[in-house]
Amino acid sequence: MPSTKSDIIIAGAGPAGTTCALALAEAGLSVALIDKASFPRDKVCGDAIPGRAVKTLYSLNPKFKEEFLAFPLKLQTRSTALYYRNRELSFNWVGEAYTSARLDFDNFLFSLVRAHTGTTILQETEIKEAQQGKEGFTLTTSDGRTLNCKLLIAADGANSTLARKLINRTINRNNHVGSVRAYYSNVTTLNPHTTEVYFLEEFLPSYLWIFPLPDNRANVGFGMLSSEISRRKLDLKKLFYEFIERSPKVSQRLQGAIQEGPLQGFGLPLGGRRLPISGSNYMLTGDAASIIDPMSGDGIGNAMVSGKLAAAQALQCFATGNFSAQAMQKYDAALYNTLGSELRLHLRTRNALARMPFLLNGIFALAGNRHIKRLVQKAL
Ligand SMILES: Cc1cc2nc3c(=O)[nH]c(=O)nc-3n(C[C@H](O)[C@H](O)[C@H](O)COP(=O)(O)OP(=O)(O)OC[C@H]3O[C@@H](n4cnc5c(N)ncnc54)[C@H](O)[C@@H]3O)c2cc1C
Repeated sequence: MPSTKSDIIIAGAGPAGTTCALALAEAGLSVALIDKASFPRDKVCGDAIPGRAVKTLYSLNPKFKEEFLAFPLKLQTRSTALYYRNRELSFNWVGEAYTSARLDFDNFLFSLVRAHTGTTILQETEIKEAQQGKEGFTLTTSDGRTLNCKLLIAADGANSTLARKLINRTINRNNHVGSVRAYYSNVTTLNPHTTEVYFLEEFLPSYLWIFPLPDNRANVGFGMLSSEISRRKLDLKKLFYEFIERSPKVSQRLQGAIQEGPLQGFGLPLGGRRLPISGSNYMLTGDAASIIDPMSGDGIGNAMVSGKLAAAQALQCFATGNFSAQAMQKYDAALYNTLGSELRLHLRTRNALARMPFLLNGIFALAGNRHIKRLVQKAL
């Protein structure tokens, strides 16, 4: 039976939580990583592993780079093609980015934690309650156990129980995207190294994506601002199939393809607005901290950056014995200094496109212009 008292409990073993555990590998602290699921577990996502995620992983330990390069269940993304009104805008990626089903990618990160750290791992353990006391936190799990820690790192995703309890976070529909995605097999006309993004005028700046996966599979999805979904009383699942039907290029891509399993929905808490993400004896990371890129919907890289920064702050706390809310502010500052201006810019760009969809016409009309290309590349 693992110890019920740890220096650090990381709640959630997605990219934010596993990165944090990996970054704490040499800390000499007792760390517990807790997840309600059993790995490998699926996560509704587009499965695009952004350059920032790859870079962050490599920065932790050269061994992780070696192991990731040998990990077979991925495709390198070399270019992205955007389609709008019979026009195409494509560009090549400079950094190293991939596509990999989250079932596999997250399990890869989870296996690194198992292989390279002394972390205590508890699966199928859902955190239901968090009580703060003098010495840190007491967590209660769904099976009635209590777990204690000095420092709590919340990495429990978009529907974070802990963010609700610790910072009273509610969904801000104006900064939250509702999304659906399905897997398809037998997708034979897709370039395995190109991710594709499709726009339709009436849903701008929302888009449908087709991201290639190994073995002629593809991840196909569509997302839209939650406030728009409610205002227009839209049924996202219905809209997904309508989009495919109405876009000849998308229909052509999926001709002969077979949908595997159901179309599944999940939310994306976007970044761009500064929220409190720490307090005495705790920090929030990843989707629990609402730091998904408002333009691209990429959250894996940002989640991993936050996990790494939370680990650095944790080391400081244990070195100084200071776990006060004021000391934790350094984590907020580090995270917003790293990601804040990019998130704000992308939020403004997204809002401008929503108000003035004709801007996209301009962007596509100037598709050959290298400044425009660079701008779009940066935004994605
Ligand atoms: C449809 C869709 C498409 C997306 N596409 C992309 C993309 O292509 N590229 C990209 O970079 N990002 C994408 N994102 C965003 C990305 O999925 C998230 O930003 C990323 O998963 C955040 O990682 P995380 O570790 O914070 O949370 P998660 O990956 O959600 O991990 C949270 C973990 O916490 C566990 N957990 C939750 N509650 C509890 C609890 N109470 N107790 C114990 N454990 C708990 C869960 O089981 C889970 O394992 C997409 C999101 C959606 C919804």
